[in-house]
Amino acid sequence: MSMFKDIPVDVGVIYEGERIRRKDMQIELGGPDIKEKFELAKVKKPEEIEDGKVTIIGPDITDMEEGKSYPLGILVEVAGAKLEPELEGVVERRIHAYCNFIEGFMHLNQRYDIWLRLSKKSFQKGLNSFQYIGKVLHRLFKSELPIIEKMQVTLFTDTEKVKELYDEALQIYEARDARARGLKDEEVDKFYGCVLCQSFAPTHVCVITPQRYSNCGAISWFDGRAAASIDPKGPVFTIERGDLVDPVKGEYSGVDEVVKKKSLGEITKVCLYTAFGTPHTSCGCFEGVAFYIPEVDGFGVVHRGYKDVTVNGLPFSTLADSTAGGRQVDGFHGISIEYMRSPKFLQADGGWNRVVWMPKEVKERVKNFVPAELVDKIATEESAKTVDELKAFLKQQNHPVVVSWKEEAIAVEEAVPAEAREEAQMIPVATAATLPITAGGFKIILKDAKIYAKKVIIRSMKNEKPEKR
Ligand code: SF4
Repeated sequence: MSMFKDIPVDVGVIYEGERIRRKDMQIELGGPDIKEKFELAKVKKPEEIEDGKVTIIGPDITDMEEGKSYPLGILVEVAGAKLEPELEGVVERRIHAYCNFIEGFMHLNQRYDIWLRLSKKSFQKGLNSFQYIGKVLHRLFKSELPIIEKMQVTLFTDTEKVKELYDEALQIYEARDARARGLKDEEVDKFYGCVLCQSFAPTHVCVITPQRYSNCGAISWFDGRAAASIDPKGPVFTIERGDLVDPVKGEYSGVDEVVKKKSLGEITKVCLYTAFGTPHTSCGCFEGVAFYIPEVDGFGVVHRGYKDVTVNGLPFSTLADSTAGGRQVDGFHGISIEYMRSPKFLQADGGWNRVVWMPKEVKERVKNFVPAELVDKIATEESAKTVDELKAFLKQQNHPVVVSWKEEAIAVEEAVPAEAREEAQMIPVATAATLPITAGGFKIILKDAKIYAKKVIIRSMKNEKPEKR
């Protein structure tokens, strides 16, 4: 029985986090196979809005072939006496949450990167028109955010129209991000947190500061402030910054306290400007991943839209799996593109001096924020396709990480006797987030364990008698 009698499927918070696999989907909208897709919120004058109107421009669900992917643009236009254009980002991010309230309708990511699926089951139950989606959005937005007095929804599926509006949407996102640049963390005493993604990553808490944009790239510090003030009981909340514990890594006592509470004790310490140790957690809708490449002691960065494998031979999807889930994974770090434009980007790890590879497309987008002397020293897929090629490129360009290779080699030579050097080069034979060992009636759990061994013997236990003590 639906929460709304005229909607053929159920609607409610319990459907958040529901995944729809390819084999179960009726149709896919946006996603990796479709270049142009977007969602956008615009604040308008009341006389420009017809409250409750839902318009579909292009084919509707019943016109779409089962199992296929289609372009989609979602435009939510709102009006209200207290609504300012500054709130557009906040309204827009709720499209994700409210779409996910619909049974058998999945929404991932944000802005220009949306990825939606409708399940066969919900389609068979009668969810066969975008009119229903628009109606649900209208009702949820108005009931959850009373600041919205009037709202109309337009769903674009016409390929040409989506293409045209996609470029316009990109300009709007850029203008929004640019407005939020310039303010420093030290100049404010409040940060903002968001737990919207806990439905997919239960221990994830985004900490949004003026110089660290949210992982999804959709919520700036200003958006956080606006969201917390218009909907104080919502997913975005205020964090009293507290004491600055570590200015380089970006650890604040207030952040640690709130993250501990909101992650139900799982995460106790967060350093905002590093990818090592106790970094900011990564949910699943980050725009990109910064991944450590031990062979060159530097970071690669890859964005969600990158189709090829990265320089270490792994595609975005595999790197994202190693990063996501609300965990703190040493050397795997979910980030937004806008965070790469922050002067505090990976500050504790060397910042841009430590970045060695990224797709050309990302480089183009952030080029003006990379120190001029480094731009040509960072490889792309055009200059390095493998780690060996990357090493050669970095050496030839005299990238700053190359100095650390030399220093390391000299330090090892001088300080360590030859026989011990052999051991120092050993790589861990086992690494695990949690490794349970049962011994002598006790269960010992090793967290983030790395095990080094001089020799590993793997023997089948079949037919082997236990040793006598
Ligand atoms: S990535 Fe962070 S800011 Fe964005 S919706 Fe998820 S929790 Fe909120």
